Parts: sequence; structure tokens; C-alpha cells
Amino acid sequence: MHFDYCPHCGQKTAMRQMGDDGAVPYCEQCGIPLFDMFSTCVLSVVISPAGEIALIRQSYGQQEFFVGVAGYMKPGETAEEAAAREITEEIGITPERTEFAFSRWHSAKGQLMLCFCAFSAQDAFTCSQEVREAKWFTPQQALQACRPGSIIGQLVQYAVGLPTMQSLQKMHEIGGKKF
Ligand SMILES: [Zn+2]
Repeated sequence: MHFDYCPHCGQKTAMRQMGDDGAVPYCEQCGIPLFDMFSTCVLSVVISPAGEIALIRQSYGQQEFFVGVAGYMKPGETAEEAAAREITEEIGITPERTEFAFSRWHSAKGQLMLCFCAFSAQDAFTCSQEVREAKWFTPQQALQACRPGSIIGQLVQYAVGLPTMQSLQKMHEIGGKKF
């Protein structure tokens, strides 16, 4: 969001040179710069103790592809906390830990996406009303379930390449169980 007007006092802003940041909207009345604002979202793939990947289909929007667990950050949260909270809210899993993977600018939505791999000790889902379906996939199935070139597709690709992921799968195979 670009501030043509000050959100605090309603006065029209004027562009002002702010050092290295260049021209920034400025409110003369409040004496503050008003940098462009955007939402920051978290996006996660959940990884099972067997090295499977959980993806979901939402109750709304497109149904062709599976997506990750995503949501808006709340003030006061770390991104790791937000990622874990969204996973608990949407699929009823409390991750053991969440690891930051990478960030991407979602140009269609004008949002910054912070992407995480979340490791779960449980594999039973309790889905919220926003989630139509949650499902465990093998790494290969997970890659095919996502829209090609999407941010979630890139995140699954990243997760599949994690050394942790490979050791989880190896341990599971040694345990004598298959996916
Ligand atoms: Zn103002």
C-alpha cells in the first residue's frame, strides 16, 4: 500500500528524500515517513516422522492443486511462531520445530511469503473448516500435487532436498515400514 494520505491524521503526503531510501511519502503534520506497506505471510510444508509431506486443499478457491499451510502474521509473533500457529489452526498438528527455508515475493498478491519446513511427531490431522482435505504425500507425489512453478512447489522441492528429510526416510525404511 502506497500512502497518498497519512493514515494517522488524514493529511496529504508529499514525497521527501530520505537518505539511502530515496523519495518516500512524508506527512508534514505528524513529521513521519510513511514507507509502502505490505502483508507478510507464512507458508509451510509439514514433514512427518517418515519423511512424508503434508499438503492441503482449501475449502475455497481452486481445487486442482494442493497447497501449503499459509496465513498472515500477527503483530508480536515471530515468523516461526506464526508458521506453527497456522499449522495447529488449520490441520491440528503441533510441529516439533519449524525451520526457515527462504522468502519469496508473491507478486500477484503483493505479499512477502516467509517459507518454512515444519517437522511433526504426529500424523493425524484435525482440519479446520477452511481446509477441505489434508493429505500425506511421498516426496515425488508432493512435487506433482503442486502447481508447477508455484512458491509451494519451490518449497516442496527445497524440503525434498533437505538432508534431514533423507535421514528420516532412511530411518523409516530401516524400521521396515513403507509409505
Ligand atoms: Zn499525519
